[in-house]
Amino acid sequence: MIIDFHVHTFPDKVAPKAVGKLAVISGIAPFTDGTVGDTLAKMDKNGIDLSVCLNIATRPGQERTINDTAAALYEASGGRLVGFGSVHPDSPDAVDELVRAKKLGLRGVKFHPDYQEFKVEEKRMWPLYEALQELDLFVTFHSGWDCYSPDHIHCFPEKAAEVAKAFPRLRMCFAHFGGLMLWEDVFRYLAGLENVYFDTAMAATMKLDPDLARRIIAKHPRDNIMLGSDCPWEDPSVSAGYVKDLGLSDAMTEAILGKNAERILGL
Ligand SMILES: [Zn+2]
Repeated sequence: MIIDFHVHTFPDKVAPKAVGKLAVISGIAPFTDGTVGDTLAKMDKNGIDLSVCLNIATRPGQERTINDTAAALYEASGGRLVGFGSVHPDSPDAVDELVRAKKLGLRGVKFHPDYQEFKVEEKRMWPLYEALQELDLFVTFHSGWDCYSPDHIHCFPEKAAEVAKAFPRLRMCFAHFGGLMLWEDVFRYLAGLENVYFDTAMAATMKLDPDLARRIIAKHPRDNIMLGSDCPWEDPSVSAGYVKDLGLSDAMTEAILGKNAERILGL
């Protein structure tokens, strides 16, 4: 089973505008039109069995709609897409919404420090981390450099590691192999922490040196690395090809391509 742990879809009505805007910011030609239909069609073409769709509340007040949509996605997609929820750190009812997300059956949430304007280590985030830990919700962070805020990094591996150590039961995924473009720091500070997870999104596009990728993998718990593409910003077959070309053992390759995600999602 091949699972892509980092995909973005949008409701049909907003997909053209959302993907269009992000294509301008990133300078990347999107691989899908952002709709569920096109994402499923491209998954079929590329042999991806299941995708985790990450959502971000970019303004306080969006989270209820986002979380309701995310919870309905699995059935709406015939069991091919798992939606993660989101809360905005500035929402007054952010903790209550995490409780509601758990009740809706969501398996995890995503934070984007750049779009949501917070730093991963900020103390105002800690009540949210505490709630996520108690609810046993998985959390994915955008980590490292981002084209939306190129001069201002909001999640440094060193700071991410401080948070992970403060919440040892919180399962935290730092996307983009722990921190886009900051991979030496990922190796130094984040690799090896038991409650830290990585997805491989954009490693191929942003040219993570395969030797460094292998060093990070060798230092990290083997169950904690998942294939990710950031589709529509990277073609998932390219992401999977990057993992296969690392020359890892068959067992390790299988773990990254699907087994680890299967376990995390409880499938
Ligand atoms: Zn992404």
